[in-house]
Amino acid sequence: MRELKGKSVTLNNSTVQQTTLGDVITCEGVGVHSGAQVKMTLRPAPANAGIRFRRLDIERDNSVAALYDNVVDTQLGTTIANTAGVRVLTIEHLMAALSGSGIDNAIIELDAEEVPIMDGSAAPFVFLIECVGTVELEEARKVLRITRPVRVGDHDRYATLRPAEDFEVDLAIDFNSGAIGRQKKHVRLVNGAFKSELARARTFGFLKDVETLRSMGLAQGGSLDNSIVVDGDDIINDGGLRFDDEFVRHKLLDVVGDLATAGHAIEGRFEGARTGHTLNNELLRAVFSDPANYEVVPATRSGSYLQPVATAAF
Ligand SMILES: [Zn+2]
Repeated sequence: MRELKGKSVTLNNSTVQQTTLGDVITCEGVGVHSGAQVKMTLRPAPANAGIRFRRLDIERDNSVAALYDNVVDTQLGTTIANTAGVRVLTIEHLMAALSGSGIDNAIIELDAEEVPIMDGSAAPFVFLIECVGTVELEEARKVLRITRPVRVGDHDRYATLRPAEDFEVDLAIDFNSGAIGRQKKHVRLVNGAFKSELARARTFGFLKDVETLRSMGLAQGGSLDNSIVVDGDDIINDGGLRFDDEFVRHKLLDVVGDLATAGHAIEGRFEGARTGHTLNNELLRAVFSDPANYEVVPATRSGSYLQPVATAAF
């Protein structure tokens, strides 16, 4: 049992407090697109700081808030940038791990431009977060409550957020490969469901695309160690899949990570078909485009997604 730093206070029985990390965590890895080695340090942050990245390889204007309106590129991953043009690439799996572990506030330091891909899933980040645990801060957590349905996309690809009591995600995907085909999954993100249902699902790519991506300077760090690689109807990885429907689970992991750029935990139900980072970001921009779509209110429920799960590791 380890002693957690910070002070834990109870505001009242129904209030949920904001959290941060119990200690500093460092890891190293490679950026899947840049191919660059990167050292990443996650640090505790005060209440209302949110999730903020800091580029240690840049001296000035090196801080970027992980918010939807700082998203500047969604081609293969989610890239954010500040007004000085300082970028951070591929934030989505780390954001999913922080959100899924109930972390409201943290500073993420990087000595290169891209978050390390680790094994292509969010599980290594969840493990690191659980190693240091969470601490509660003396401020109530706020949630983004969806008050009416908001939809983006067309009949073929779409994403919707609609009012619900918890955070739920529901997605259908359809790929022209026997290895993937049609997959559909719904997860209610309560009681540690992020960790058990989604965190271990890895990113994936198609062998036929690898040469094109590499010639564009992308996927330089991609390998069978950090991606499921699909060749026609086959999966190349020796170990096969972690779940029969690992592909749709990973796409749901991406949804959780992208929606975490809302800046608050979400009280609402996401429904989508064939979504990606672009639609996920368009959805948040659509929600915030009209104040009638949402309200930001203190979180009141416990025992749900809104309750940090990482402390359970102690
Ligand atoms: Zn992903």
